[in-house]
Amino acid sequence: MTKSKLTLDDSIDKIKGIGPRYLKCFQKLSVETVRDLLYYFPFRYQDFSKVKNINELIEGETVSIIGVVKKIALRRTWRKKMFLIEAEAEDKTGSIRIIWYNQVFLTKIIKPGTTLALSGKVKKTGKKFYLSSPSFEIISQEKDEPIKNLSELKHTARLVPVYSETEGLSSKAIRSFISSVLYLRNKISEYLPDFLLEKYQLLPINEALEKIHFPNSLEEAERAKKRFVFESLLFSQLYLLKIKIKNNHLKFPKIKADFDLIKTFLKNLPFELTNAQKKALFQIINNLNQRPMNRLLEGDVGSGKTIVSIGASLLTYYSGYQVALMAPTEVLAKQHYKKFKEFLKPFKIRIALLTSSEGRIYDNGLEGKLSKKALEKIIASSLPIIVIGTHALIQKNIKFSKLGLVIVDEQHRFGVEQRKKLLSQNKNQEIPHLLSMSATPIPRTLALVFYGDMDLSIIDEMPEGRKPIMTKIVNKKEVNKVYQFVREEIQKGRQAFFICPRIEEKEAVNLEEIHADNLISLADKLKAEVKAVKKEYKKLQEEIFPDLKIGMLHGKMKSTEKDEIMKKFLNKEIDILVSTSVIEVGIDVENASIMVIEGADRFGLSQLHQFRGRVGRSIYQSYCFLIPDNFSYKTIERLKAMIKYNDGFRLAEIDLSLRGPGEFLGTKQSGIPDLIMRSLLDKKLIEEVREEAKNVLKEDPTLKKWPLFYLAFKDFVKKSKEA
Ligand code: ADP
Ligand code: MG
Repeated sequence: MTKSKLTLDDSIDKIKGIGPRYLKCFQKLSVETVRDLLYYFPFRYQDFSKVKNINELIEGETVSIIGVVKKIALRRTWRKKMFLIEAEAEDKTGSIRIIWYNQVFLTKIIKPGTTLALSGKVKKTGKKFYLSSPSFEIISQEKDEPIKNLSELKHTARLVPVYSETEGLSSKAIRSFISSVLYLRNKISEYLPDFLLEKYQLLPINEALEKIHFPNSLEEAERAKKRFVFESLLFSQLYLLKIKIKNNHLKFPKIKADFDLIKTFLKNLPFELTNAQKKALFQIINNLNQRPMNRLLEGDVGSGKTIVSIGASLLTYYSGYQVALMAPTEVLAKQHYKKFKEFLKPFKIRIALLTSSEGRIYDNGLEGKLSKKALEKIIASSLPIIVIGTHALIQKNIKFSKLGLVIVDEQHRFGVEQRKKLLSQNKNQEIPHLLSMSATPIPRTLALVFYGDMDLSIIDEMPEGRKPIMTKIVNKKEVNKVYQFVREEIQKGRQAFFICPRIEEKEAVNLEEIHADNLISLADKLKAEVKAVKKEYKKLQEEIFPDLKIGMLHGKMKSTEKDEIMKKFLNKEIDILVSTSVIEVGIDVENASIMVIEGADRFGLSQLHQFRGRVGRSIYQSYCFLIPDNFSYKTIERLKAMIKYNDGFRLAEIDLSLRGPGEFLGTKQSGIPDLIMRSLLDKKLIEEVREEAKNVLKEDPTLKKWPLFYLAFKDFVKKSKEA
C-alpha cells in the first residue's frame, strides 16, 4: 500500500513500520486507527530547542548540538554487566564524548561520518564534558551531504513531545509514527461550529493537531491544548446533560409529597435536623414527586445523611413502593438496619436485612430471622418493604416487583441500566429513583465533571453539640507520649484506631525517565501494605501494649474476615485496631475516641479527614494524632490545615489545589480523557463549558444542526463507553 492511500480510518498497521508487535502495544494505549494516533497527545514537552556549538557548553544545561561522529565503539562494562556504547562527535568548534547504555543497535545505525543532532543534559567528568544517553536524530549518513533543515527534526533541537509509553513502545517510536502521518490531519474537516471557535478563540483543528504534537513554542502548545481541552470538556458535558435530560423523561414512581407524614417523622426524632439536612430532604421530597431522581447526596462523615435517606424511604414506602438500600459492607448494612428500625419505630413499616450471611425482618414491631428464600418471596410480591443489604442485593438477582427508590451508600455509580435490571418484575416500566450518598466531599468542579448527570444535594453543616475532635501533629520522636495517652484512654474504656502509612504505587509514565526499580505494581503495593500492617501490629502487640487486645485489618483480607474483625471491635473485644487505609468507609464505632495516623504526610488531606471522621461520633472527647514520617516545614504547613479546618469541603478544595486532580482522585480514573483530567483545576473553564453545553442543547437538543459536530460527539461517546 502506498503512503498516499492511507486514510484516517485505516488500522495503524497500515503505517510503515507498524507490525503485529507494535500493533499490540498501541492497542494497550487504545490507539487503533490512524485518527486515534493523531489524537494521541503528548503529556509534556522536552525543551531541546537551545542549539549550541560544542565549545559553548555549560555543565548541567539541557542543549542540542549538531555534530559528525568521529568514532563509535561498543564495550562491556566490567562492573555492572552492561554494554556501553561510546562515541565522539565534533563540530567546527570542538568535540565531545557521548555514551549510551545497552542500546547495542546504535553501532549498526551510527557510523563514523554520520551527522547527528544530539540533545540532552551536559555532564562533566574531570574537565571534560560529555552527554549521557542523549536523544539523537540522524541528519545524514555521509560526511559531505548537506545538513537537512533543522525545522524538520522531530526528536532533537526543538520542543520535543513526550508521550506516555507502554512496554515495547517508546515515546520516540510514537513520535516517529505520528510525525509520519501528521500530513493526514488535513483530511479532518473542522467539526466545531464556527460560533464556538470564534467565541472561545480556539485554533482550527488542523493547526491544533500540528501544534499539539510539534509546537514551536510552549505558547503554541498551550493554545493547541486549549482547543482540545475545550472540546473534550464540551463533549463530556453534553453527554452528561443529555443523560440528565433523558432521565427526566423516564416513567417514574410518583411519590406523594406528604408533608404531614414528614412532620410526624421529624417530631419523633431525638434531635432536630440541621438546616442543611432540612434543605436536602426538601429537595428530595420535591424531586420524588415531580421527576425521576438521580441525585448525589454529599455530606461530611457524621453530617447525618442517613436520616435524610430514612425520610425519603418513609415517603416512598407510604406511596406503596419498595426501597432498596445498598451498603458497601455487611457491618455497615447492619448499622443502617438498626438505624432504620430505630427512627421508623413510630410507623408501621416492614424493614428487612439481607446480606450474604443472613436474612432478618422487622414487621409491626416484631423482629426476627427469616430465610433468604422467604425474603425473596416477599420482595417479589408487591408488598411495600425497605430492604437493606450489601451489593449482593443486585448481584443475587433479587427481583423487586415494585421498587420505588434505590439508595446507595458510599459512592457507587449506578446507571439507568442497573436500575432497570433491579426491576425485572416491574409491570409498569417505572424506573426507580436513585439516591447516592457519599461522604467524600468533592469540589463542585469535579462534581460537574464526574457527576454532571446528577442533581446535587449538599449537607455542609454538622449537627450541633458535637465536640470537635482535637487534632495534633506529633513528631515521630515523641510517639511514646501518644502511646501513653492511648493507654490512659483505653483504661477509661475507650478504643483506638492506628492507621499504617500508605504505600505508594508509582505508575510508569515515561520509561525514558523513570528507572524500573522505582516502580511498584498494585500487587506489590498490597503486599507491602500487608507487610507494614503486620509489622505495626507485632510492634504494638509485643512491645508497646502487650497487655491489650489488638486487631488487624488490611486489603488482602476477605470481606467476611474484615467483617469479623469489625464486629469484634464493635463488641469491644479489641482495644486497638491497626489498619491500612481500608478502614476509610463509614463505620460507626461510637466508643472509639482515638485515631492515630502514622505516615500522615503520605495521605491527602481529604483522606486524613475521612480517617478522622471515624472517631468523634459520641459524647466522648475524641482525638486525632497525625504522625508524619517527614517533619519538614512544608509537610507541617500542609498538615496544619487539618487543625485549622474541620470542614471536608474546605479540606478537599485545599487538597485538590495542592496535589492536583490526579493525586486527589487517587488511581487512574478510567473513562476520563486525559486532557479533562488535566483541566480539572480550571474552575472557571469548567463552569463556562457547562453553561455553553446547556446553550448548545437549548439551540438543538439533537445536535444535528451541526452534522460534523454531531458525528464527533457520537465518536466521543463511543470511546468513553469503551474506556
Ligand atoms: P453520615 O452522614 O456520616 O452517614 P449519619 O447519618 O451516620 O452520618 O449520622 C451520624 C450520627 O449523627 C448518627 O448517630 C445520627 O443519628 C446522628 N445525627 C444525625 N443528624 C443529627 C442531628 N441533626 N442532630 C444530632 N444528631 C444527628
Ligand atoms: Mg453514613
